Amino acid sequence: MEKKNIDWSNIGFGYIQTDYRYVSNFKDGKWDEGTLSTDPNVVLNECAGVLQYAQTVFEGLKAYTTVDGKTVTFRPDLNAERLAQSAARLEMPVFPKERFIEAVKQVVKANEAFVPPYGTGATLYLRPYIFGTNPVIGVKPATEYQFRILCTPVGPYFKGGAKPLTIKVSDFDRAAPNGTGHIKAGLNYAMSLHAIVTAHNEGFDENLYLDPKTRTKVEETGGANFLFVTKDNKVVTPKSNSILPSITRRSLVQVAREYLGLEAEEREITLEEVKDFAECGLCGTAAVISPVGKIVDHGREIAFPSGMEKMGPVTTKLRETLTGIQMGTIKAPEGWIVNID
Ligand SMILES: *Cc1c(COP(=O)(O)O)cnc(C)c1O
Repeated sequence: MEKKNIDWSNIGFGYIQTDYRYVSNFKDGKWDEGTLSTDPNVVLNECAGVLQYAQTVFEGLKAYTTVDGKTVTFRPDLNAERLAQSAARLEMPVFPKERFIEAVKQVVKANEAFVPPYGTGATLYLRPYIFGTNPVIGVKPATEYQFRILCTPVGPYFKGGAKPLTIKVSDFDRAAPNGTGHIKAGLNYAMSLHAIVTAHNEGFDENLYLDPKTRTKVEETGGANFLFVTKDNKVVTPKSNSILPSITRRSLVQVAREYLGLEAEEREITLEEVKDFAECGLCGTAAVISPVGKIVDHGREIAFPSGMEKMGPVTTKLRETLTGIQMGTIKAPEGWIVNID
């Protein structure tokens, strides 16, 4: 396979148009057979449900080249299940899991020239999404939808090493107690934009959102779950029904237990106890783990012993093991790696 002439190691996290996208439309109560399209544009009625009432949900996963030259994706079955949960919560039709995985394979295969070579640190980022397409003016679910998977090559997340982040305890909430924090919906991001721009203007990298009900417990950032390591090397992640169930975080917990022999626990974590942890990281598809050096709560600084120069030892080991599993240098648990060809 002839790869595109792209400077793989130096592209950022942005949209680069690729040759094909997968498209399937839902009408009269069913999804059509779906197809690959060369058209990157979506033409919608001015009153489409997605434009008026933000009826859209999405996913994010990566395709990449392993050490032995195979093109693969990581646990797409979990993305299919999570998209189904997101869609159901917004009264949208579910795109069936088997078809989702088939569509992922088709669109990656069609764009194989855009899958970055092994060793570049770059990956092909896949963005599956569903949105309401027919005109909706009274507040109700759309009756017609489009499922689409676009893909775009993205560069290595950490160019020149992972620099620990400084995070602000936000005054804004990202989720309501019985709201939509647990689904991957565009609406959760629209309302986070003001909070992230505010944090950036104040010199912070990210926001730590507290639980919306008591504002005493750690939830997550705008787009990644927290993972903490205790001083006696136990992995602890926040438990809450208003955080997004990160596939990376769930995978890291399994890696901690089964590959590193560490104890791992999902439980409520108060902001008060954060000062007692040895390491902190953010989990998500894009970076796997980003190190957190400092959390600032209204002038009170919580600095982790791992410091502001490098990732802590346990988070480093977790990250190396999971990326090794993804890249084929470490044996993967059954079903985690899905071959494209
Ligand atoms: C997508 C997302 C994550 C990370 O999930 P992964 O499946 O690990 O990529 C975490 N939090 C939020 C709010 C997200 O939208």
